[in-house]
Amino acid sequence: MMAQYLSVKAEYPDCLLFYRMGDFYELFFEDARKAAAALDIALTHRGKHLGEDIPMCGVPIHAAEGYLARLIKQGFRVAVAEQMEDPAEAKKRGSKSVVRREIVRLVTPGTLTEESLLDTRASNYIAALGEAQGALALGWCDMSTGRFCTMAVGADRLEAELARLAPAELLYPDSLQPPAVCEVIGTATTILPRHRFDSQKGAERLKGLFGVASLDSFGEFSRAELAAAGALVDYLDETQKGALPRLSAPRREEAATVMAIDAATRFSLELTRTTGGERKGSLLSTIDLTVTGAGARLLADDLAAPLTDCDAIRQRLDLVNWFFEDTIARTRTRDILKETPDIERALSRLSVGRGGPRDLAAIRSGLAQALALKAALLEAYGQPIAACTLLEDQLGRIGAHGELLDLLTRAVVAEPPISVADGGTIAAGFDPTLDELRSLSADGRRAIAALEARYREETGIASLKIKHNNLIGYHIEVPARAADALLAHPDYVHRQTMAGAVRFSTGELADLALRISQAGDRALALEKEHFEALRSAVLADGQAIAATAAALARLDVASALAELAARDNWCRPEVHADSGFHIEGGRHPVVEAALRKQGQPFVANDCDLRAESRVWLITGPNMAGKSTFLRQNALIAILAQMGSFVPARSAAIGVVDRLFSRVGAADNLAQGRSTFMVEMIETAAILNQATDRSLVILDEVGRGTSTYDGLSIAWAVLEHLHEQTRCRTLFATHYHELTALAERLPALALYTVRVSQWKDELVFLHEIAPGAADRSYGLAVAKLAGLPAPVIRRAQAILDRLEKPGSPGGNGRARGGAKAALESLPLFAAAPEPAPAREETPDPLREALSAVRPDDLTPRQAHDLLYQLKTLAEKPDPS
Ligand code: ATP
Repeated sequence: MMAQYLSVKAEYPDCLLFYRMGDFYELFFEDARKAAAALDIALTHRGKHLGEDIPMCGVPIHAAEGYLARLIKQGFRVAVAEQMEDPAEAKKRGSKSVVRREIVRLVTPGTLTEESLLDTRASNYIAALGEAQGALALGWCDMSTGRFCTMAVGADRLEAELARLAPAELLYPDSLQPPAVCEVIGTATTILPRHRFDSQKGAERLKGLFGVASLDSFGEFSRAELAAAGALVDYLDETQKGALPRLSAPRREEAATVMAIDAATRFSLELTRTTGGERKGSLLSTIDLTVTGAGARLLADDLAAPLTDCDAIRQRLDLVNWFFEDTIARTRTRDILKETPDIERALSRLSVGRGGPRDLAAIRSGLAQALALKAALLEAYGQPIAACTLLEDQLGRIGAHGELLDLLTRAVVAEPPISVADGGTIAAGFDPTLDELRSLSADGRRAIAALEARYREETGIASLKIKHNNLIGYHIEVPARAADALLAHPDYVHRQTMAGAVRFSTGELADLALRISQAGDRALALEKEHFEALRSAVLADGQAIAATAAALARLDVASALAELAARDNWCRPEVHADSGFHIEGGRHPVVEAALRKQGQPFVANDCDLRAESRVWLITGPNMAGKSTFLRQNALIAILAQMGSFVPARSAAIGVVDRLFSRVGAADNLAQGRSTFMVEMIETAAILNQATDRSLVILDEVGRGTSTYDGLSIAWAVLEHLHEQTRCRTLFATHYHELTALAERLPALALYTVRVSQWKDELVFLHEIAPGAADRSYGLAVAKLAGLPAPVIRRAQAILDRLEKPGSPGGNGRARGGAKAALESLPLFAAAPEPAPAREETPDPLREALSAVRPDDLTPRQAHDLLYQLKTLAEKPDPS
């Protein structure tokens, strides 16, 4: 057996091998050590190899899924070797022969289909990165739904697309480096030899898979796309050991049809997760009112990929609007959908041979619900509110499915068991032979009861029983004290003596038992045949079922968004091709929801980025709501372009091609980048990639370095966005000096968040108004936050000194105004006249300064030194 184990293991050295032995999957050697540690299970040993104990651990079959999930989450890949024959068959070849085992599946993060291993409400993509003639492309699919797409991507867009898909696994050729973003978004990477990404072979593979002579009808694929798609299909085939999942025909996505949003922007806007990694508190969790798993997955996909085509966006909005207007149709739709099982995933499990009777039942009730929904909507649409193309499309996509539905209804019992092997999947009346076999075994059981009664009477032993167990089958059991009579009886053959009981059998009972078990075995075999036939019937209808499932998901998303809009008072945005961006009464959906829970109102704000004021420079105190305002406008653009209503009184949005958001500072120490480095990398990406159709949100650029460095960078970035990129920009800053730029940059508008001071307290009004803030109120906020009073007093004293115009280091921010601030900046002021050379007396201040080693000073020493230097400076000049 070890020889067999080692040869199977040699095929998949990079996987943990789950080696089936009876009711367990066993792991040996290094695999056992790794798995025992990862799963926190006992490491034992069994037998010897080359004189050493063989480490071993195992997981029971019935609990294997849970263990698999944990291993996959920890980054392992698992090869599953099953027993391919009955141990009895193996014995026929000789008492020492080993049961034949084969790898039936490789389990990797991107190839899961089990309900328990997947998140019902999230897609599970596997992607491949192809390269040909210097061009790149992605191919991706969700094995659990069969959705299959490709996209040609420029190197500058690759990371944004990966961030959008957030695949569980990315395949890439050994000729390329894995994209750095994979680590950030938690994508497992699998390196494969380059020859598996051959575009020619890829094309052949796809043609073979879809049974077409040419791929033209699917679209014009680039060579890199064929390379990616081919490698992907090849890998699925390898991991599924030939049981390829049902894949829809590959669909080409054009990068230009989707708003580009890079990983940093997604992260900072908390689209699907909060910055803390939680789902709760993200935009997705706030807007998700879908009632089916497929709807939730589609909503997440839509949110990840807002559209850029106005017509397509309007169509989606029309559908949401239709449900928004017709409250009755909306409620009915949602009620029906609530009762609709996940057809997509049931279908995919059936297609890879891992489906059971309950998947058939799910498809049956899912299709029945789909037909009910179609009827309800046709009825509602009979009195049209407005023509709605997308609704008509969805109704058209829900097929009739009459025959299949009828077959499944007749063939499968109402509540089938988990596995066909449990028996009882096929309904009575579907197959007369099966019914007969079942009644034979039922009759047999009745005959056993009759036999028991007769034996009791014949032997006079009232406590005689006929029992059944798996070891010896049917047998007669009597208490030990009554056994003597039977031991002497010629018809009764002794089988076993137990403590207190003795077991017998008779020829008559053996005959009957054989008849029962034969009928049972045959019935089960027949049920398995029927199951396979039903599975084939479902798969033959696969495309139509998938289309129905897709329509249900779209209807779920639209009716859920309509529900949200009605509940939270959202409005239909107007999306157009020019470059305006006009929001009236906009709100931040997540902050608003959080405040609502505390019974507090959210202050709505307008935003109008028209050509002549396309850059807004927003100053205002800490905690006033700058970041909230910035983000809410980015979120409104995303929501509008994904085809949702938006949290505003009105919104007119010129389509945004790329959205960038740099909000706050974040270290990425795992990647060895400091706060400031991360900030600059992200800012560089914005300046290099934004176009005049983009929307850029910048919050406090340049905060991670010294004041003057930061201010200069923020200044230059703002100028560049205004002059070169010419995109719509919201720029929040604490550098009040920047407001002086309004005099030079015509499309720069100054805005501030209003606060008022009441007695000694700061009151946040959260209102965005034209103008610039007079100061940051940082100390007031620090006081609110509970900094000790002596520290606040000391800070106030230092601030007063720093702000005094003309004081060393003082830039006169508040009192001197922006202009004075500018002039006090060495960077922007005229270069000072060089001082005349002095030969005679050395200057003590200069001497003291040159002796300073800034890196060796503690903050406290630095502070003291500053006072010493000041004292020196105030002494009369010795010359
Ligand atoms: P900082 O400069 O310190 O980063 P900020 O000006 O960016 O602060 P935000 O983080 O946007 O301030 O907002 C602070 C808090 O104020 C939010 O958590 C929220 O509770 C509240 N807030 C912000 N905007 C509004 C609003 N429009 N209506 C009501 N409350 C708001």
